[in-house]
Amino acid sequence: MSSIKEYQANFEISEQEIEQARVLLRQVHEQTLDGIKAGKGPFCAAVYQQHKFILATSNSVVEEQCALNHAEMNAIRAACLHYKSFDLAPFELSLYINAEPCIMCLGGIMWSGIKQVFFSVPSSQVEEITGFDEGFKPHWFEEFARRKIKVCGGLEAELGRKVLRQYVAEKRPIYKPTR
Ligand SMILES: [Zn+2]
Repeated sequence: MSSIKEYQANFEISEQEIEQARVLLRQVHEQTLDGIKAGKGPFCAAVYQQHKFILATSNSVVEEQCALNHAEMNAIRAACLHYKSFDLAPFELSLYINAEPCIMCLGGIMWSGIKQVFFSVPSSQVEEITGFDEGFKPHWFEEFARRKIKVCGGLEAELGRKVLRQYVAEKRPIYKPTR
């Protein structure tokens, strides 16, 4: 075991919670691969209520020709429909994502009432591997802590990097606005 933590969290997280998150994030990486095979982008977000699976969505920006259709935004939209509410806070939901949310999705998570966020690959590595632009996100772990949103990132990141590298190796689209 390395003495350097492989993850970063903005709350006290127990060994048991870490193990649980690892299991669910490994599933998200599988779902990401399934999405890629189905022609979607290389990102997937799964919504859980406590540890009960509710839904998972992939990035569909290219498929649906909409810049907003990141995996997290699709998941939040589907969860709002599922619970018939714009405020997801009463349902105590957690979001598990294969990669760190971008600047847009941080906003979506904040306005939705999602209570916990677990992700694997940090944005700096997503950008390095894929060339996607993840945006500027100063102090977001602290900002989320102030809003009582728990965040833990970095778990199962090697598996996540492998999936992203595969997407790039297959020369799949790295979509961006024209600058
Ligand atoms: Zn995003």
